[in-house]
Amino acid sequence: MLLIAFAIVVTIILIKFKPVYQVTLDGVQVGYIQNKENFEKLIQEEIVEQEGENIAFTDLTKTPSYEFTLADIDQTNESEIFSQIQESAVTTYRLYAVAVNNEQKEILNSQEEAQNAVENLEQEYADKIEGLNITVQEVFTQDMNTPTVEVASVVTSLEKEFDEQIAIQEEIKASTFNGIYFSVKPVTGTITSRFGANESIRDHTHKGMDIAAPGGTPIKASAGGEITYSGWMGGYGNLVIIDHGNGVQTYYGHCSKLYVDVGEQVTAGDTIAAVGTTGNSTGNHLHFEIRKNGTQVNPQKYVYR
Ligand SMILES: [Zn+2]
Repeated sequence: MLLIAFAIVVTIILIKFKPVYQVTLDGVQVGYIQNKENFEKLIQEEIVEQEGENIAFTDLTKTPSYEFTLADIDQTNESEIFSQIQESAVTTYRLYAVAVNNEQKEILNSQEEAQNAVENLEQEYADKIEGLNITVQEVFTQDMNTPTVEVASVVTSLEKEFDEQIAIQEEIKASTFNGIYFSVKPVTGTITSRFGANESIRDHTHKGMDIAAPGGTPIKASAGGEITYSGWMGGYGNLVIIDHGNGVQTYYGHCSKLYVDVGEQVTAGDTIAAVGTTGNSTGNHLHFEIRKNGTQVNPQKYVYR
């Protein structure tokens, strides 16, 4: 009799209370599920191991914990709990950057495309730009809207960059004499006499070039070096001489003012003097010379080309 009563009670309990798992996310109870193993499997397959273009991996930010219980509920809410876990999951995407000397330039969707761009560019520029190193680098991002480009677009934009680089290299090469790069025009103005000109003011050909500019115009060092002369020198009037090394010197003559002292180091672009008309001169201008081991060369080959 007692046994029957017990059986009835158990049956009532089992009808009213279901054996389920209570699920907790981040310390918050979110509901009940029937089968823990199936639910975990679903999370793994549908969220953690989901595959798709550019998906690198997915991390769960909310990991469920389960507690077996008998609950007085009509139905469990698996799909609702699953959605919460899915929505909080963070997916990391893998994209491919074309990098030039380790600096990432453009991002593409596929490794194959990125490699294709690299090969195109290497073929075109490897022997034109010294030390050029173009590689494909993996980029990981959680932003699925990271902008990517097509192969043709990468190639076009890097071709432009490389061509500019080549032009600069060529400009430097052309402006370099005996290892000294003349990066700065000492003054801007009108060239009034070129190297080798025969003019009545001299009894020899012109050993430099003259650039007319208003008196007081700043004269800049054409390249860096050491001041080896700053003072009056005969027909030059006020003169600055810079020694650039490698036997190369520049002369700046007819100055109205001298701003540097012997022994001073200057870099290209530093103001060293002001335009004037001192010495054997008929008007405000800079007389500019480049010498190698004391012999003048045509400065216009390297500056004011
Ligand atoms: Zn001159």
